Amino acid sequence: MLSLVSTPIWNLEDMTLRAIRTLKEADLIVCEDTRHSGHLLKHFDVSKPLQSFHSHSTREQAKKLMERAQNEHVAYISDAGTPGISDPAYLLIQEAIEQGIKIEVIPGASALLTGLIGSGLHMHDFRFLWFLPLKKWRQTLLKSLAEKDYTAIIYESPHRIEKTLSDLVTIFWPEYRVCLARELTKIHETYHRDTLENLQKEAKKGVFRWEIVIIF
Ligand code: SAM
Repeated sequence: MLSLVSTPIWNLEDMTLRAIRTLKEADLIVCEDTRHSGHLLKHFDVSKPLQSFHSHSTREQAKKLMERAQNEHVAYISDAGTPGISDPAYLLIQEAIEQGIKIEVIPGASALLTGLIGSGLHMHDFRFLWFLPLKKWRQTLLKSLAEKDYTAIIYESPHRIEKTLSDLVTIFWPEYRVCLARELTKIHETYHRDTLENLQKEAKKGVFRWEIVIIF
């Protein structure tokens, strides 16, 4: 069996009882980075063999891992949040389905849904765009957003936030309102619901130093 276990995006209180029980029952825990996940597992007193499966792992490696899941209970955790949302879980899920392995999903924290809900924007029609492409397709994608009639959600890093905000200004306009959700589930969690122009000023002051979700 393959269990896809959600873990906190920061706040350890968001770890569910079911997540802890599942990890304690698993024979093997697959994670992106064994050192990073090792700290989390230690905190919850989970001591199981760990194996890494990261963004450079191949379909062949996924196949081997899922062959183990034929007879053993394999659990997957990402660095943070819900498996599959912006991490390498997709290959494992595809391979598990191919091999007829039972999959269970243990729901939990996700920056995508937390940011969307707190933004106050329409939730009946939304699209997750992951991280904006850096070069190829960036302009094409941005241009297509000008016509959008849904709520868009983008993950962004603090290093690229100024560039992304200035790209959004060229597609929309300085008074266009967006929501920047930062440090979700942390003490300083903040939803900046403001114009692109004002958010650019905040970005220049270095307000957006941690992980960010943009909703517009
Ligand atoms: N699997 C995670 C999830 O379920 O949301 C997402 C991991 S993705 C590799 C990392 C990106 O998620 C960050 O660059 C940021 O855009 C967003 N993110 C993760 N944690 C966040 C937080 N606490 N506050 C705001 N954004 C966060």
